[in-house]
Amino acid sequence: MSILRSVQGAPRDPILGLTEAYQSDTRDQKVNLGVGVYTDSEGKVPLLDCVQAADKQLAEGRTPWSYLPIDGLKAYDNAVAELVFGTSVPRERLAVVQALGGTGGLKVAADFLHQLDPDAPVLISDPSWENHRALFTRAGFTVGSYPYYDAAKRAVNFAGMLEGLKAAAPGTIVVLHACCHNPTGYDITREQWQQVLQVVQEGRLVPLLDMAYQGFASGIEDDGYAVRLFAEAGVTTFVTTSFSKTFSLYGERIGALSVICGDDDEAKRVLSQLKIVVRTNYSNPPTHGAKVVATVLADETLRQQWEDELGAMRDRIKAMRTGLREGLEKARPDVDWSYITTQNGMFSYSGLSKEAMGKLREEYGIYGLDSGRICVAALNEKNLPYVVEAIAAVA
Ligand code: PMP
Repeated sequence: MSILRSVQGAPRDPILGLTEAYQSDTRDQKVNLGVGVYTDSEGKVPLLDCVQAADKQLAEGRTPWSYLPIDGLKAYDNAVAELVFGTSVPRERLAVVQALGGTGGLKVAADFLHQLDPDAPVLISDPSWENHRALFTRAGFTVGSYPYYDAAKRAVNFAGMLEGLKAAAPGTIVVLHACCHNPTGYDITREQWQQVLQVVQEGRLVPLLDMAYQGFASGIEDDGYAVRLFAEAGVTTFVTTSFSKTFSLYGERIGALSVICGDDDEAKRVLSQLKIVVRTNYSNPPTHGAKVVATVLADETLRQQWEDELGAMRDRIKAMRTGLREGLEKARPDVDWSYITTQNGMFSYSGLSKEAMGKLREEYGIYGLDSGRICVAALNEKNLPYVVEAIAAVA
């Protein structure tokens, strides 16, 4: 009898499954606010000009598709180190590997951390990006959470967060969102980051800063504050980077894992182990996305162009937040909608109930998560009035 006979069908991925449901919806008027993808004012995933220019350069100097080193394209790894850490830590103290998007960086980190201490508890924020729990569980860890969101106050429950972290045993791996918290959109302040750092240091915790949206909240420099703070403090820290959103390179699967090490020798030893994790998972990473990002970041003109284009995406999201808030304030003055513009990044925890989200889907063809998370980066001038009308009706 085949070993496959007893295989049970797994539930659909909650987020990507929603996109499948959206795609099979035959209504003309439908809006996908489920998946975390930025779309422009035409509702399209943008192809950035800086990426097109880099692509053109690469096509002209076409080189064969050989293997990359296990840890990725050197120029890319160096560019990531410069972008993410600036001068906060010497390059020699960083172990950097190119990874398959931010998710790939998390998985390499999880596998390596599991090798170091399989019994270490992992704490993620409550709530968090769902894949955090799934990924660390799959890697063999027991995953718990620290308080993060206060639904009644529509704010970060910072006292609860600190308490949760203070109660963690030494060696606990703490997954923190460096900026643009997914799914709530609420970030902590600089002063609060300093307190978190102190608790991490005193409790000898192992911080992992997941940075999937650097530049989507306030700018590259500002959004990198937490990472640089930890780096300057000399704390052993894992940092995952994603260029899926910031370069609109979703399908290229381009990201990184950087580990802040104690000294140069430690960084070399850590890198050698990360390379084994990569080698035994997928051998080495793909070429194109790394070349595009490295080309853009190394060229002064293209880099400026990227920062401008990233700024434009950020501004457009903010404009959509304002539009959503103002529209809802007009349609439903009985509700406080001010939270929409205090959140950061692509998502808004709308505060809508599971039932309301169900109604949005069934009656209006508007797809968001049952948790109430909607992707404000998928709003545009055309779909905004319809979304306002629908939310006002179900809220
Ligand atoms: N971490 C967080 C917090 C995210 O929101 C995402 C993207 N949804 C990722 C990691 C993964 O990014 P990527 O698509 O590059 O794997």
